[in-house]
Formats: sequence, structure tokens, C-alpha cells
Amino acid sequence: MMGQAYDPSNVFARILRGEIPAQKVYESAYALAFHDITPAAATHVLVIPKEAHVSLVDFVANASPATIQGFFQAVTETARLMGVEESGYRILANHGPNSGQEVPHFHVHIVGGQPLGPLLAPASA
Ligand code: 5GP
Repeated sequence: MMGQAYDPSNVFARILRGEIPAQKVYESAYALAFHDITPAAATHVLVIPKEAHVSLVDFVANASPATIQGFFQAVTETARLMGVEESGYRILANHGPNSGQEVPHFHVHIVGGQPLGPLLAPASA
């Protein structure tokens, strides 16, 4: 299946290029982590690969194994730096229309810092 073309004007591409600010938490050769602008929990950080990939499917299909490993190491390192490794956290990645993915640059949400409750709120539709 052909994926959606990468749009280099998306907001996370602009953060990577330094065109708009972000509150950075961690950076490696593979990834950048920064606070979500609209936090959904006491701790809510986004981790994005430095490479341009639209979504989880694009990332897994087209990134090298070293890049995928480096990215997920950045996710766990970011959670550790945020102090939620012991208390626990959830990671989440939206893909495709039903997920409501807003920003078309693959990212993982790390949420924690409080009890997170059930995985999903009841669907409204
Ligand atoms: P998605 O729905 O695509 O999985 O999540 C996108 C996330 O990016 C949302 O939680 C939203 O609050 C966050 N976000 C959108 N624009 C910005 C921004 O300019 N800066 C930061 N730090 N987060 C953003």
C-alpha cells in the first residue's frame, strides 16, 4: 500500500529544523523528545525520530534497524529522565484516520506521572 507522502511543513519537522521552539527533554542522533504543548497527564512527552516518516507504518517499513532501535532506546531513556520508569508510564502512537493522528510525523507519546486509568475513554460516536 502506498503511504501518505511526507509533508516537510508539519509542525514536528519545523521543531526539528529549529523553526519553532520546543521544551526539549532529550536528544540523540536518532530522536528528539519534548513536552507536549497540551499535556494530557502530569507527564506528557513526545518522542520523534529525526528522520522524516509520516507514521508508525512508514517508520517500521522504511527506517533502518539501527534507526528503529535508536528511536526506541530514546523513548525509554526519555521516560527514565522524566522520572517515571519506576512509577510507570504508557506509550502510545496514533496511526491512520480512526486514531485521529494530527501531526503527520511519526511520534510516540509518553504519559505518566499519575495513575492513568483505563486504556481508552469510551468512544463518543
Ligand atoms: P497526535 O494526535 O498526532 O498523535 O498528537 C499530536 C500531539 O502533538 C498532540 O498531543 C498535540 O498537543 C501536540 N502538538 C501539536 N502541536 C504542537 C507544538 O507545536 N508543540 C508541541 N510541543 N506539541 C504539539
